[in-house]
Amino acid sequence: MNLTKLESQIKKTLKEIKLKKSDKILVALSGGKDSTTVAYTLHKFGYKIQGFHIDLKIGKYSEDCLKSIKQLCEDLKIKLYVYDMKKEMGAGMCYLRSGIQSCGKGTLKNCAICGVLKKSIMNKQARRLKVKYIATGHNLDDEAQTFLMNIMKGSPNLSANSGSITKNVSDKKFVPRIKPLFDVLENDIREYTKKLKLPVVYTQCPCALDSYRIQVRKFLNTLEEKDKQNILKYFNKVFPRLQTLKDSKLKYCESCGEPSRGKTCKKCKLLGLVK
Ligand code: SF4
Ligand SMILES: [Zn+2]
Repeated sequence: MNLTKLESQIKKTLKEIKLKKSDKILVALSGGKDSTTVAYTLHKFGYKIQGFHIDLKIGKYSEDCLKSIKQLCEDLKIKLYVYDMKKEMGAGMCYLRSGIQSCGKGTLKNCAICGVLKKSIMNKQARRLKVKYIATGHNLDDEAQTFLMNIMKGSPNLSANSGSITKNVSDKKFVPRIKPLFDVLENDIREYTKKLKLPVVYTQCPCALDSYRIQVRKFLNTLEEKDKQNILKYFNKVFPRLQTLKDSKLKYCESCGEPSRGKTCKKCKLLGLVK
Protein backbone atom coordinates (compact mmCIF):
# COMPACT_ATOMS: atom_id res chain seq x y z
CA MET A 1 0.00 0.00 0.00
CA ASN A 2 1.36 3.40 -0.84
CA LEU A 3 0.20 6.49 0.98
CA THR A 4 -1.24 8.13 -2.12
CA LYS A 5 -3.59 5.19 -2.78
CA LEU A 6 -5.38 5.75 0.53
CA GLU A 7 -5.48 9.50 0.01
CA SER A 8 -6.94 9.05 -3.50
CA GLN A 9 -9.65 6.75 -2.12
CA ILE A 10 -10.60 9.41 0.44
CA LYS A 11 -10.55 12.19 -2.17
CA LYS A 12 -12.87 10.12 -4.37
CA THR A 13 -15.36 9.73 -1.50
CA LEU A 14 -15.18 13.45 -0.65
CA LYS A 15 -15.84 14.28 -4.30
CA GLU A 16 -18.82 11.91 -4.41
CA ILE A 17 -20.40 13.53 -1.35
CA LYS A 18 -19.62 16.98 -2.77
CA LEU A 19 -17.86 18.22 0.34
CA LYS A 20 -16.89 21.90 0.02
CA LYS A 21 -13.71 23.43 1.42
CA SER A 22 -15.87 26.07 3.11
CA ASP A 23 -18.01 23.48 4.98
CA LYS A 24 -17.43 23.53 8.74
CA ILE A 25 -16.68 19.96 9.83
CA LEU A 26 -16.43 18.49 13.31
CA VAL A 27 -14.23 15.38 13.39
CA ALA A 28 -15.25 12.84 16.04
CA LEU A 29 -11.88 11.87 17.48
CA SER A 30 -11.47 8.70 19.53
CA GLY A 31 -7.67 8.54 19.65
CA GLY A 32 -7.66 5.49 17.35
CA LYS A 33 -6.16 5.14 13.87
CA ASP A 34 -9.38 5.74 11.90
CA SER A 35 -10.53 9.09 13.27
CA THR A 36 -6.91 10.28 13.42
CA THR A 37 -6.59 9.51 9.68
CA VAL A 38 -9.81 11.40 8.97
CA ALA A 39 -8.55 14.53 10.77
CA TYR A 40 -5.07 14.29 9.28
CA THR A 41 -6.22 13.85 5.67
CA LEU A 42 -9.07 16.39 5.75
CA HIS A 43 -6.66 18.93 7.19
CA LYS A 44 -4.02 18.03 4.58
CA PHE A 45 -6.57 18.51 1.78
CA GLY A 46 -7.45 21.98 3.09
CA TYR A 47 -10.85 21.39 4.72
CA LYS A 48 -12.08 23.46 7.67
CA ILE A 49 -12.07 21.04 10.58
CA GLN A 50 -12.36 21.10 14.36
CA GLY A 51 -11.86 18.14 16.70
CA PHE A 52 -14.36 16.75 19.17
CA HIS A 53 -13.72 14.05 21.73
CA ILE A 54 -15.91 12.41 24.35
CA ASP A 55 -13.76 11.49 27.32
CA LEU A 56 -15.51 8.30 28.45
CA LYS A 57 -13.42 8.04 31.62
CA ILE A 58 -12.49 4.39 31.05
CA GLY A 59 -9.31 4.55 33.16
CA LYS A 60 -5.85 4.59 31.56
CA TYR A 61 -7.24 3.80 28.11
CA SER A 62 -9.18 7.09 28.09
CA GLU A 63 -6.17 9.01 29.40
CA ASP A 64 -3.98 7.66 26.59
CA CYS A 65 -6.62 8.49 23.98
CA LEU A 66 -6.99 12.06 25.20
CA LYS A 67 -3.21 12.53 25.21
CA SER A 68 -2.92 11.34 21.58
CA ILE A 69 -5.81 13.54 20.48
CA LYS A 70 -4.36 16.62 22.14
CA GLN A 71 -1.05 15.91 20.39
CA LEU A 72 -2.76 15.53 17.00
CA CYS A 73 -4.77 18.74 17.35
CA GLU A 74 -1.68 20.59 18.46
CA ASP A 75 0.29 19.25 15.46
CA LEU A 76 -2.51 20.18 13.05
CA LYS A 77 -3.21 23.45 14.86
CA ILE A 78 -6.93 22.77 15.04
CA LYS A 79 -9.41 23.57 17.80
CA LEU A 80 -10.33 20.67 20.06
CA TYR A 81 -13.53 20.37 22.09
CA VAL A 82 -13.59 17.76 24.85
CA TYR A 83 -16.80 16.52 26.41
CA ASP A 84 -16.15 15.18 29.91
CA MET A 85 -18.57 12.33 30.58
CA LYS A 86 -18.21 12.46 34.37
CA LYS A 87 -18.60 16.22 34.56
CA GLU A 88 -21.56 16.39 32.16
CA MET A 89 -23.44 13.19 32.99
CA GLY A 90 -22.33 12.64 36.56
CA ALA A 91 -20.63 9.31 35.80
CA GLY A 92 -18.14 7.66 33.47
CA MET A 93 -19.17 5.17 30.78
CA CYS A 94 -18.35 2.11 32.93
CA TYR A 95 -20.70 3.20 35.71
CA LEU A 96 -23.51 4.18 33.34
CA ARG A 97 -23.13 0.93 31.43
CA SER A 98 -23.18 -1.33 34.46
CA GLY A 99 -26.16 0.62 35.84
CA ILE A 100 -28.08 0.13 32.58
CA GLN A 101 -27.10 -3.55 32.32
CA SER A 102 -28.06 -4.35 35.92
CA CYS A 103 -31.46 -2.69 35.52
CA GLY A 104 -32.94 -5.28 33.23
CA LYS A 105 -31.08 -4.51 30.02
CA GLY A 106 -28.27 -6.97 30.73
CA THR A 107 -28.45 -8.33 27.22
CA LEU A 108 -27.29 -5.01 25.81
CA LYS A 109 -23.63 -5.10 24.89
CA ASN A 110 -21.19 -2.43 26.07
CA CYS A 111 -20.65 -0.93 22.62
CA ALA A 112 -24.37 -0.76 21.87
CA ILE A 113 -24.91 1.36 25.00
CA CYS A 114 -21.78 3.44 24.45
CA GLY A 115 -22.72 4.04 20.80
CA VAL A 116 -26.19 5.35 21.64
CA LEU A 117 -24.88 7.76 24.30
CA LYS A 118 -21.99 8.97 22.15
CA LYS A 119 -24.20 9.61 19.09
CA SER A 120 -26.64 11.61 21.15
CA ILE A 121 -23.93 13.78 22.80
CA MET A 122 -22.20 14.28 19.47
CA ASN A 123 -25.31 15.49 17.64
CA LYS A 124 -26.21 17.96 20.39
CA GLN A 125 -22.70 19.40 20.64
CA ALA A 126 -22.20 19.59 16.87
CA ARG A 127 -25.46 21.52 16.58
CA ARG A 128 -24.33 23.88 19.34
CA LEU A 129 -21.07 24.48 17.45
CA LYS A 130 -23.05 25.14 14.24
CA VAL A 131 -21.05 22.75 12.06
CA LYS A 132 -22.38 21.43 8.77
CA TYR A 133 -21.14 17.84 9.19
CA ILE A 134 -19.80 15.39 11.75
CA ALA A 135 -16.98 13.30 10.22
CA THR A 136 -16.49 9.83 11.69
CA GLY A 137 -13.77 7.22 11.20
CA HIS A 138 -15.92 4.33 9.92
CA ASN A 139 -14.00 2.34 7.32
CA LEU A 140 -14.91 -0.28 4.73
CA ASP A 141 -14.35 -3.19 7.15
CA ASP A 142 -16.67 -1.54 9.71
CA GLU A 143 -19.38 -1.15 7.09
CA ALA A 144 -19.04 -4.78 5.98
CA GLN A 145 -19.21 -5.92 9.63
CA THR A 146 -22.35 -3.86 10.20
CA PHE A 147 -23.85 -5.32 7.05
CA LEU A 148 -23.16 -8.90 8.22
CA MET A 149 -24.37 -8.16 11.75
CA ASN A 150 -27.65 -6.80 10.41
CA ILE A 151 -28.10 -9.89 8.24
CA MET A 152 -27.45 -12.14 11.28
CA LYS A 153 -29.98 -10.14 13.29
CA GLY A 154 -32.49 -10.74 10.50
CA SER A 155 -32.77 -7.03 9.61
CA PRO A 156 -30.56 -6.38 6.55
CA ASN A 157 -32.48 -3.20 5.76
CA LEU A 158 -30.97 -1.60 8.88
CA SER A 159 -27.87 -1.18 6.70
CA ALA A 160 -29.79 1.42 4.73
CA ASN A 161 -28.58 3.91 7.31
CA SER A 162 -24.99 3.26 6.25
CA GLY A 163 -23.34 5.25 3.49
CA SER A 164 -20.58 7.81 3.07
CA ILE A 165 -23.02 10.62 3.92
CA THR A 166 -26.36 10.75 5.75
CA LYS A 167 -28.95 10.93 3.02
CA ASN A 168 -32.67 11.68 3.06
CA VAL A 169 -32.64 13.04 6.62
CA SER A 170 -33.16 16.74 6.70
CA ASP A 171 -34.02 18.11 10.12
CA LYS A 172 -32.84 21.31 11.74
CA LYS A 173 -31.86 19.44 14.89
CA PHE A 174 -29.95 16.66 13.16
CA VAL A 175 -26.33 17.16 12.03
CA PRO A 176 -25.53 14.90 9.03
CA ARG A 177 -22.59 12.48 9.26
CA ILE A 178 -19.89 11.89 6.68
CA LYS A 179 -17.54 8.91 6.51
CA PRO A 180 -14.42 9.87 4.52
CA LEU A 181 -12.93 6.34 5.01
CA PHE A 182 -15.99 4.59 3.61
CA ASP A 183 -13.93 3.05 0.79
CA VAL A 184 -10.73 2.34 2.72
CA LEU A 185 -9.67 -1.01 4.19
CA GLU A 186 -8.74 -1.13 7.89
CA ASN A 187 -5.29 -2.63 7.24
CA ASP A 188 -4.42 0.20 4.86
CA ILE A 189 -5.36 2.77 7.52
CA ARG A 190 -3.16 1.02 10.10
CA GLU A 191 -0.24 1.05 7.66
CA TYR A 192 -0.84 4.71 6.80
CA THR A 193 -0.81 5.91 10.43
CA LYS A 194 2.24 3.79 11.23
CA LYS A 195 4.20 5.06 8.24
CA LEU A 196 3.40 8.66 9.13
CA LYS A 197 3.95 8.01 12.86
CA LEU A 198 0.67 9.74 13.73
CA PRO A 199 -0.24 9.92 17.44
CA VAL A 200 -2.55 6.90 17.68
CA VAL A 201 -3.64 4.51 20.47
CA TYR A 202 -3.49 1.04 18.92
CA THR A 203 -4.69 -0.90 21.97
CA GLN A 204 -8.30 -1.96 22.00
CA CYS A 205 -10.86 -0.30 24.26
CA PRO A 206 -11.09 -2.54 27.39
CA CYS A 207 -14.89 -2.32 27.31
CA ALA A 208 -15.09 -3.71 23.77
CA LEU A 209 -14.30 -7.28 24.86
CA ASP A 210 -17.83 -8.64 24.68
CA SER A 211 -18.84 -6.70 21.61
CA TYR A 212 -20.92 -8.52 19.01
CA ARG A 213 -18.97 -6.60 16.39
CA ILE A 214 -15.72 -8.15 17.64
CA GLN A 215 -17.22 -11.61 17.28
CA VAL A 216 -18.20 -10.77 13.69
CA ARG A 217 -14.75 -9.27 13.05
CA LYS A 218 -13.10 -12.44 14.36
CA PHE A 219 -15.28 -14.49 12.04
CA LEU A 220 -14.39 -12.25 9.07
CA ASN A 221 -10.71 -12.60 9.93
CA THR A 222 -10.94 -16.39 9.62
CA LEU A 223 -11.86 -15.94 5.96
CA GLU A 224 -9.45 -15.69 3.08
CA GLU A 225 -8.75 -12.14 1.87
CA LYS A 226 -10.55 -13.03 -1.40
CA ASP A 227 -13.75 -14.06 0.45
CA LYS A 228 -13.64 -10.85 2.49
CA GLN A 229 -13.33 -8.81 -0.69
CA ASN A 230 -16.33 -10.67 -2.12
CA ILE A 231 -18.48 -9.69 0.90
CA LEU A 232 -17.35 -6.10 0.51
CA LYS A 233 -18.09 -6.20 -3.23
CA TYR A 234 -21.55 -7.63 -2.56
CA PHE A 235 -22.18 -4.98 0.09
CA ASN A 236 -21.29 -2.23 -2.41
CA LYS A 237 -23.63 -3.80 -4.97
CA VAL A 238 -26.73 -4.04 -2.77
CA PHE A 239 -26.05 -0.80 -0.90
CA PRO A 240 -27.73 1.58 -3.40
CA ARG A 241 -30.86 -0.62 -3.26
CA LEU A 242 -30.88 -0.63 0.55
CA GLN A 243 -30.71 3.17 0.52
CA THR A 244 -34.10 3.32 -1.16
CA LEU A 245 -35.63 1.48 1.85
CA LYS A 246 -34.40 4.09 4.25
CA ASP A 247 -36.87 5.59 6.69
CA SER A 248 -36.08 9.29 6.72
CA LYS A 249 -38.75 10.51 9.14
CA LEU A 250 -37.54 11.94 12.44
CA LYS A 251 -39.63 12.95 15.44
CA TYR A 252 -38.49 14.73 18.59
CA CYS A 253 -38.04 12.83 21.84
CA GLU A 254 -40.84 13.64 24.30
CA SER A 255 -38.37 13.63 27.15
CA CYS A 256 -35.29 15.56 25.91
CA GLY A 257 -36.46 17.11 22.62
CA GLU A 258 -33.63 15.58 20.59
CA PRO A 259 -34.25 13.95 17.18
CA SER A 260 -35.61 10.44 17.53
CA ARG A 261 -37.25 7.69 15.47
CA GLY A 262 -39.70 6.89 18.29
CA LYS A 263 -41.59 8.84 20.97
CA THR A 264 -38.65 8.55 23.36
CA CYS A 265 -35.08 8.55 22.09
CA LYS A 266 -32.75 5.60 22.73
CA LYS A 267 -30.54 7.66 25.05
CA CYS A 268 -33.47 8.64 27.31
CA LYS A 269 -34.70 5.04 27.34
CA LEU A 270 -31.28 3.86 28.51
CA LEU A 271 -30.61 6.63 31.03
CA GLY A 272 -34.14 6.28 32.42
CA LEU A 273 -33.05 2.86 33.67
CA VAL A 274 -30.25 4.19 35.89
CA LYS A 275 -32.18 7.05 37.47
S1 SF4 B 1 -15.11 0.08 21.78
FE1 SF4 B 1 -17.25 0.08 22.43
S2 SF4 B 1 -17.20 0.64 24.59
FE2 SF4 B 1 -15.20 1.18 23.76
S3 SF4 B 1 -15.40 3.32 23.15
FE3 SF4 B 1 -15.91 2.12 21.34
S4 SF4 B 1 -18.15 1.87 21.40
FE4 SF4 B 1 -17.47 2.54 23.45
ZN1 LIG C 1 -34.52 11.80 24.68
